[in-house]
Amino acid sequence: MGEKYLRPDVLAMSGYTPGEQVNQCIKLNTNECAWGPSPAVRAALASYDVDSLRLYPDPVSRGLREAAAAVYGVTPAHVLAGNGSDDCLTIIFRAFVAAPQKVACPWPTYSLYDTLATLQGVGIDHIDWLPGWQLPTAALAATGARVTLLATPNNPSATLVPRDQLRELARALDGILVVDEAYIDFAHGGDGLGASFLPVLDEHPNVIVLRTFSKSYSLAGARLGLLFAAPALIAQLEKVKDSYNVNALTQAAGTAALRDGAHLIELVRKTIEQRELVCAALAEHGWTWPQSEANFLLAETGSVEVATRVYDGLKARGILVRYWAKRPDLNTKLRITIGAPESNQAMLAAVKEILAAS
Ligand code: PMP
Repeated sequence: MGEKYLRPDVLAMSGYTPGEQVNQCIKLNTNECAWGPSPAVRAALASYDVDSLRLYPDPVSRGLREAAAAVYGVTPAHVLAGNGSDDCLTIIFRAFVAAPQKVACPWPTYSLYDTLATLQGVGIDHIDWLPGWQLPTAALAATGARVTLLATPNNPSATLVPRDQLRELARALDGILVVDEAYIDFAHGGDGLGASFLPVLDEHPNVIVLRTFSKSYSLAGARLGLLFAAPALIAQLEKVKDSYNVNALTQAAGTAALRDGAHLIELVRKTIEQRELVCAALAEHGWTWPQSEANFLLAETGSVEVATRVYDGLKARGILVRYWAKRPDLNTKLRITIGAPESNQAMLAAVKEILAAS
């Protein structure tokens, strides 16, 4: 009954659907990390003063921002923390766009951008990637969008846009460019900062860079993201965020994780090692994919029939990968997260069995 009072656009929208959550399965569908977070996180949480949870957390995550600034070579004033980078994206939408302004993104990409545009009541221009997942710079600039969203490495293609091309795009836009670097630590063979936009951020006052702790830091369950921008922009965005948007336990966990850079490097190394094994095995089936710069790959199976059969067969064996059956641009492909060795081996054996049975 109460539904009739909803905004019509909320009633009409289908909502963002994350990958399925099923217990006791091999979960290669949401690009989580296969191994646990730093032991420093465990220590920080184990020694956490639980009585202090009666107090609100630091609203602006000072300690965390200082730790992040030290790691990423910026000042704390360049950093805003969010309840996952999804929260950072919400803050951006709220702060920068109102109808009739719109946003734009290369397409296909992370579909939450669409959901957030709907919730904000603004249009979103999807600009197809050029062949080979190349950046459609001129077409993006021609949209006149207030905010352009660009995931690099991109989800679901796992492809990277070189920094020079991002700089060119930033200069061409009359608006904000959001460089969503959720998977950047896996790029360039694990040389995240080499591929990142962060080292040149100060040269581009219209650019915002996003990072997440959900992938290479293996803290998806803690919900933590970082937004980097010019201090003047950060000061404005702080007005828009929820008052206590990062809880105290997550601030402690994130700070500890940031201080253990060696653990991140090790997680990235193990993921890339597994990525190479998975790629070699899948290539034997004649499957192809754009070169993966992330902790997943977008495998082209050749047909809707094969993709459906493999997805269903894997699911029946308790192995989840991501499949967009209703998307004509993606329905011959499967997005497969790189997991732990035993998960990957189980997935590879199952794919082989399913294909052999045809
Ligand atoms: N950006 C991209 C490109 C992603 O794929 C994801 C995770 N699916 C996110 C952001 C969201 O990450 P978080 O867990 O920090 O909200």
